[in-house]
Amino acid sequence: MMQRREFLKILGAGAIASAVPGFAHAAGKSQGRVVIVGAGYAGATAAKYLRLWGGDQLDIILVEKSTIFVSCPLSNLVLGGSKRIGDLTFNYSGLDRYNIKRLYAEVVGIDAAKRKVHVGEGDFLEYDRLIVAPGIDFMYESLPMLESAAAQESVPHAWKAGPQTINLRKQLEAMPDGGVFVLSIPKAPYRCPPGPYERVSQVAFYLRNAKPKSKIIVLDANPEIVSKKGLFTKVWAELYTGMVDYRPNSQVVEVDVGARSLKTEFETVRADVLNVIPPQRAGKVAQLAGAANVDKRWCEVDFLTYESKVVPGIHIIGDSVSAALPKSAHMATSQAKVCASAIAASLAGDPPDPQPVFANTCYSFVSDKLAMHVAHVYRYDLAKKIMLPAEGGGVSDKPTELEGDYAQWWAKNIWSDVLS
Ligand SMILES: Cc1cc2nc3c(=O)[nH]c(=O)nc-3n(C[C@H](O)[C@H](O)[C@H](O)COP(=O)(O)OP(=O)(O)OC[C@H]3O[C@@H](n4cnc5c(N)ncnc54)[C@H](O)[C@@H]3O)c2cc1C
Repeated sequence: MMQRREFLKILGAGAIASAVPGFAHAAGKSQGRVVIVGAGYAGATAAKYLRLWGGDQLDIILVEKSTIFVSCPLSNLVLGGSKRIGDLTFNYSGLDRYNIKRLYAEVVGIDAAKRKVHVGEGDFLEYDRLIVAPGIDFMYESLPMLESAAAQESVPHAWKAGPQTINLRKQLEAMPDGGVFVLSIPKAPYRCPPGPYERVSQVAFYLRNAKPKSKIIVLDANPEIVSKKGLFTKVWAELYTGMVDYRPNSQVVEVDVGARSLKTEFETVRADVLNVIPPQRAGKVAQLAGAANVDKRWCEVDFLTYESKVVPGIHIIGDSVSAALPKSAHMATSQAKVCASAIAASLAGDPPDPQPVFANTCYSFVSDKLAMHVAHVYRYDLAKKIMLPAEGGGVSDKPTELEGDYAQWWAKNIWSDVLS
């Protein structure tokens, strides 16, 4: 992947202020240009499958602000101590074979009327189709005291894997035996419904072995555990007896960063290690594109194409989408494939698949080896025009080591699918 200046130079001098000559459609070869913003689970998958299904003549540009891909799935295991962040960190060289132009840059604006993506002052890329896949951003207006980098150093979210995950692990390592870890969970919808409860289990796994006198307080803004409730409740009671104090309907309203304490409507809770996962919405660039039309948070799309319902020509995939679907990596890749297929069809003058079907599985590790899953197949409902769970699916009976193996292989498979 190239840095922005170098890339735009190669595209041609005109790229700074006008259309890109080196890739102009007038060359007669290209069937169209698709620009993809964000090379996470959704965006990288869309780029690869557009090449596979859209053919060689498609001009595909992938814009990503980070030079590395760090997986959120399995990142809770870094907190538990059975994985290192390096095990979850990859570069993008596996995509080289697909002839996808990659650009490291932050997208700072989208002009949907002119079909331009702004990647810096005066620099832009033109597109025929745009895919916006920026994941989530945090709603710090509800917790302004956590907005600064310094505050997030003291009170990490660790909800975007990377330095924040390492920071939280270090804080847990430094915590005295007998200390209190407090996790604050926002109201759903948020990224990865079972993720916070997997985190509780991973932290409990670490503390049970390393600092058994310690306690975990879970302040959940939701009225109950959002995913795999029966399973997590049983795991905490049986594997981590007496360690986890779960408090529902406990929305954080204020954080004292210096004192590492927080207030809910009912109480003030002090922590030795404080982990606040803030409320979330579609990534900022989706907001800038004007596509976040649901509660000013999420993006409404047509589930046959993932084209925005409010901004024509822009497709949204992954966590930013508004849907009664889990915000998961598996779901992000499934949406990316439907979207890639629809765009490839549309550029060839064909209609999209009239009734897409895809699956989602979310594994949760509750120790270094034991895991459990929730899985469903989703089918497009012709009358309601949304994706609905088909018959079947469901959750594990109990966590097992066999499912732990499946979960490790699930991760290897999805990384391979997304990045190579
Ligand atoms: C702790 C944790 C555990 C999880 N476990 C699982 C699991 O076991 N299974 C599962 O399926 N899911 C899991 N998830 C959820 C999963 O990580 C997300 O659902 C998934 O990452 C969503 O993919 P995405 O492509 O929408 O967003 P992301 O993967 O976050 O990708 C978005 C990309 O866009 C880039 N970007 C954003 N804005 C810009 C911009 N302006 N310019 C350029 N680039 C930009 C970002 O740098 C990023 O690379 C977990 C999440 C967490 C936090």
